[in-house]
Amino acid sequence: MQSVKDRNPNQPEFVQAVQEVAEDIYGWVEDRDDYHEAQILQRITEPDRITSFRVVWEDDDNDIRVQRGWRVQNNNAIGPYKGGLRFSPGVNESVLKFLAFEQTFKNSLTGLPMGGGKGGSDFDPHGKSDAEVMRFCQSFMTELYRHIGPQVDVPAGDIGVGPREIGYLFGQYKRITGRWEGVLTGKELSYGGSQMRPEATGFGAVYFLREMMKAEDEELEGKTAIISGSGNVALYAAQKLLDCDAKVLTLSDSDGTIEIKDGLNRDQLEWIQELKFERRGRISEAADEFDGIEYHDGKTPWSVEADVAMPCATQNEIDKDAAKELCGNDVRFVVEGATMPTTADAMELLRGEGVVLAPAKAANAGGVAVSGLEMSQNAERMSWERERLDSLLTDIMADIHHKCRTAGKGDDGSIDYRRGANIAGFEKVADAMLAYGVL
Ligand code: NDP
Repeated sequence: MQSVKDRNPNQPEFVQAVQEVAEDIYGWVEDRDDYHEAQILQRITEPDRITSFRVVWEDDDNDIRVQRGWRVQNNNAIGPYKGGLRFSPGVNESVLKFLAFEQTFKNSLTGLPMGGGKGGSDFDPHGKSDAEVMRFCQSFMTELYRHIGPQVDVPAGDIGVGPREIGYLFGQYKRITGRWEGVLTGKELSYGGSQMRPEATGFGAVYFLREMMKAEDEELEGKTAIISGSGNVALYAAQKLLDCDAKVLTLSDSDGTIEIKDGLNRDQLEWIQELKFERRGRISEAADEFDGIEYHDGKTPWSVEADVAMPCATQNEIDKDAAKELCGNDVRFVVEGATMPTTADAMELLRGEGVVLAPAKAANAGGVAVSGLEMSQNAERMSWERERLDSLLTDIMADIHHKCRTAGKGDDGSIDYRRGANIAGFEKVADAMLAYGVL
């Protein structure tokens, strides 16, 4: 870890992500001489390559704006680089390196042949017109196109990159190269997208939760859940929880939290999905619209009593204080819908209190799994039915759960899902790297 810190100064998110994996796998790799002789640990913490580039675009007032773009191609040992693009002012190289590192092991867990990558820009889509977003996306792709391809690197969406942005990016790729090919996932159905892709991450996280509960002889039906975020992952997780007859007590955005004391109902959820996906409004508007919903400005959901917490917004959103609140309220299950939403000290506290924690790289792998299935559909020029994809997603999440449980079983029979996810995800990538020799 010291050499990782020395080689990556001022990159706290990346160091945090490596530390988390290292802690979990170190005991397991200790007597793997083949890994040590081949320097697998050192090689796996060094991205294959990082491309950074200037993105210039013109806003609606004809002012010229300059942004920075990146693609981190972390590791392609088990398949083409695969991972989303994030457009957010907080994006920097450290954040993208951490996301690409995490993505590598997550993709490995799905069992599909996908390596790990991530990219994005410090561009902030909030408050921008469609025309501004289009001009930015076109400029971004004008550089990115030369680094990606269906057999090379297949980006998708992430925070700030949804169907609208994917449409502009894909259109520009097609215009520059003259090729229609499955170079991006998360596309709309009209031009090669997959059924179930929008729902996959949120639904998948709930499928994972259901498996964890089953293993503990518990049922999801009747349980209460607090969710953070109100984007793609949060709102589809909420939808699946309602399908399973669980109660959703909160949603949030970066301004504040809504609390729904009697539990979110279908009409409210549909209204909020329209608000966030179509009108790009703020979550506070739900409290203006519905009597049973209260808005708490500047607050997070973590003080509300529930059985399950699902952080589905962003990294490090559950810190030690939030973890104390969760434990004080007897939250039994934490399911990481977002990537690395729990700080290291919060994680330690939750583990110490016996909270069952579904780590992000397992719990939110449903999205990339269906992205992998979108790649297969594009390659065979086919479009599979929703039921088939939902059933594949359910099986993949059950399989990931099984792998995490098996690899995460301690000598005393206790289960550590985070350790299991890290070991199972790491092993496949490391073995492929060993097979290739020294490169
Ligand atoms: P969206 O952009 O659709 O939604 C993000 C949500 O989180 C919004 O409600 C946003 O609020 C809120 N949010 C963003 N930043 C903050 C912050 N600093 N504090 C509080 N709330 C914040 O993104 P997704 O739902 O796609 O992604 C959410 C998380 O899930 C990310 O960590 C992503 O990496 C992860 N993930 C997503 C996958 C997918 O398929 N979409 C797949 C796997 C992981 P606001 O509108 O105010 O910005």
